[in-house]
Amino acid sequence: MNEIKIFAPATIANISCGFDVLGCCLESVGDEMIVRKTQDKGIKITKIIGEELPMDIHKNVAGVAALALLRKYSKNLDFGFEIEIYKNIKPGSGIGSSAASAAGVVFALNELLNKPFSKLELVEFARKGEELACGYPIADNVAPAIYGGFTLVKNTDPLRIVELPLLDNLYTTIIHPQIEIKTADARAILPNKIKLGDAVKQWANVGSLVHALHTKDYNLFADSLTDHIVEPYRSKLIPKFEKVKKSALKAGALGGGISGSGPSIFTFSKGNQIAEYVADTIKSIYQKTNFDFNIYISKINPEGIKIISIH
Ligand code: ADP
Repeated sequence: MNEIKIFAPATIANISCGFDVLGCCLESVGDEMIVRKTQDKGIKITKIIGEELPMDIHKNVAGVAALALLRKYSKNLDFGFEIEIYKNIKPGSGIGSSAASAAGVVFALNELLNKPFSKLELVEFARKGEELACGYPIADNVAPAIYGGFTLVKNTDPLRIVELPLLDNLYTTIIHPQIEIKTADARAILPNKIKLGDAVKQWANVGSLVHALHTKDYNLFADSLTDHIVEPYRSKLIPKFEKVKKSALKAGALGGGISGSGPSIFTFSKGNQIAEYVADTIKSIYQKTNFDFNIYISKINPEGIKIISIH
């Protein structure tokens, strides 16, 4: 095995009530990466297509995550690696652009090294990349990218990830207004203290959302998609947020909110047809503004990163 090409998926973190803990993985939106063994030792990023991002391995999340993995690899390597990144997910979109690169590279290296590391260890390495991107080693995007489906970050130190079941017919419609909100900035506007009453509502929703996934209860899932803590602050940064959310619900969506730290807005629907209808509805709202935007429709991806080819 000398070369691997992978699909590194976009992800939705927070999922309304689960700030920093809940996340899920997308099926049809994501980057591609090629990682190849080289005679020269060490790692290099040799190509980045689609976005202007640093090639320096200490400034690109892929390089930082790769270094974290190689530092823990016990055997001496008489070869190195080169990384090619084909970006489709815009940095700062809120759908896990940095996480896709960080998770993708450690997954690929693990395959080329004959899988010495567990999924949990891969998340540990990948979140070192997230620390570079936003200042915190958050795992709520890299965990669903690596595990697939829905995940919950139970603990950060020591790291513990809980894999949650999936609703089979769940689709997401995401609108990405082309404005950049850096995760670090979106965190800075959050309050340090929250009201106990809001916290009570929030953890009730996290519990019921997890129960809804286990019992395949779409109504309870929909009823749990409310954020009493973060959304009131961050939604102010996103044009037409309230209108998009309300119209999506009217069009049949189960619920929605801010994807990660925004500006993307996600909605969930039962089935592709409703997800398409929601997309048309949201599109018509944004077409009346001066903002450029992208719309994505995707099934939730049960397996996470996918191998496209390996040889
Ligand atoms: P997102 O939620 O879309 O990942 P973040 O704000 O968390 O947005 O991360 C984007 C930041 O990470 C940008 O400042 C970007 O320059 C930096 N970055 C470094 N390497 C990468 C990479 N390979 N892919 C995406 N972003 C990267």
